[in-house]
Amino acid sequence: MHSFSYVDGTLRCEGVDLGEIADRFATPAYVYSSATIRSNYRRLDAALAPLDHLLCYAVKANSNLAVLNLLSKLGSGFDIVSAGELFRVLKAGGRADRCTFAGVGKTREEIAFALREGVYSFNVESEGELTRINEVAGSLGLKAPVAIRVNPDVDAKTHKFISTGKSKNKFGIGIDRAAEVYQVAAGLPHLKIRGVQTHIGSQILEASPFAEAAEKLAALVRDLKQAYDIEFFDFGGGIGIVYDEALESGSPAWWEAHGSSTQRITPEDYAAAIIPVLKPLGLRILFEPGRFLVGNAGALLSTVQYVKQTPAKTFTIIDAAMNDLIRPALYEGWHEIVPLRQSTNEKTVMDVVGPVCESGDFFAQDRPLAPLHPDDRVAVLSSGAYGFVMSSNYNSRPLLPEILVDGEKFHLARERQSLEDLVRGESIPE
Ligand SMILES: *Cc1c(COP(=O)(O)O)cnc(C)c1O
Repeated sequence: MHSFSYVDGTLRCEGVDLGEIADRFATPAYVYSSATIRSNYRRLDAALAPLDHLLCYAVKANSNLAVLNLLSKLGSGFDIVSAGELFRVLKAGGRADRCTFAGVGKTREEIAFALREGVYSFNVESEGELTRINEVAGSLGLKAPVAIRVNPDVDAKTHKFISTGKSKNKFGIGIDRAAEVYQVAAGLPHLKIRGVQTHIGSQILEASPFAEAAEKLAALVRDLKQAYDIEFFDFGGGIGIVYDEALESGSPAWWEAHGSSTQRITPEDYAAAIIPVLKPLGLRILFEPGRFLVGNAGALLSTVQYVKQTPAKTFTIIDAAMNDLIRPALYEGWHEIVPLRQSTNEKTVMDVVGPVCESGDFFAQDRPLAPLHPDDRVAVLSSGAYGFVMSSNYNSRPLLPEILVDGEKFHLARERQSLEDLVRGESIPE
């Protein structure tokens, strides 16, 4: 569900005209819908209600303080991957004892910070990390709660850069070695074994890889529960979203028509596939949704600068670029692009590109879209996850503002960087 739709030919986010946002804050700019985030959270939470569960939002998908605060108020926990993300969660009013700390490269400083703040669990990805956490906990006179991330070797059927549950990936401990590594953990005095974790990948659009992962891990989880009295099984994130037909997919009617066909996964499909396997475990089940909660809640607003005709193509050059939204370049990500003002039903085939000096700087290629002209404004939809958070200052382009809409109101949740911000902290030697 999401809250972007046309009213009298003008694109709105909830009760706010996006043209007004673009006038007020200029473009490019990110806009997020509170209603969409709330509705996604509640829908997933309701689908998983038969389980004793906790949603731990994967902060890396969108870490703006206002977004974290909104999720915290809904009761969400958080899945963090760095000290910086824990700092953000705390600033946003989130609780450390609802945080799981993931990632293959945790430094001593990050471990110490998370221990002092009292995170719920370290999701451990190697034996070296177990040893290190044990040492840091010992030096602080604390006991570190740990879960081991187990790699079930299943094919998530997603882009190779975001598949994480195959044995060739860098993540977790192979399922065949897991029992042995738990024994190592049990022998370390400053650790408390609290759970088991897995995460097989991102943008997964079928229920079957989730069911397969749950089934593959269930026996191991049962054994670990017996042996170590663990309290949770963290099943990770990865539920995919609809990127094509993004606008239509905001309506319940669309879901009725398309919801159960292949390449579309609903929270209910997801829940139905895993609850029968997870419920009998009798444990608290954690989930780490990122993209599902915020992906369709965001749009990147941009203004057309030039339309350039070449013998081969029409290039529509907009003021947003790959440094603002890197998904097309990095993952071959596909985003629907729509005008803020609907004009005609006529379509012309074009490439929509940014101004950066890289051929990878595109938002759409050979795409039929309503003709666009300089100063027309567009929205690049479904850019609420892995959008702003992956942006950079490449080409010395200031980072964009982020605006959170709620009903008729909107809030500037992050200011646009200024040119001075671009050089802050830099200096020239005497
Ligand atoms: C990225 C990540 C997630 C979130 O993935 P989504 O596809 O955004 O749901 C959850 N858990 C871990 C460990 C991750 O690395």
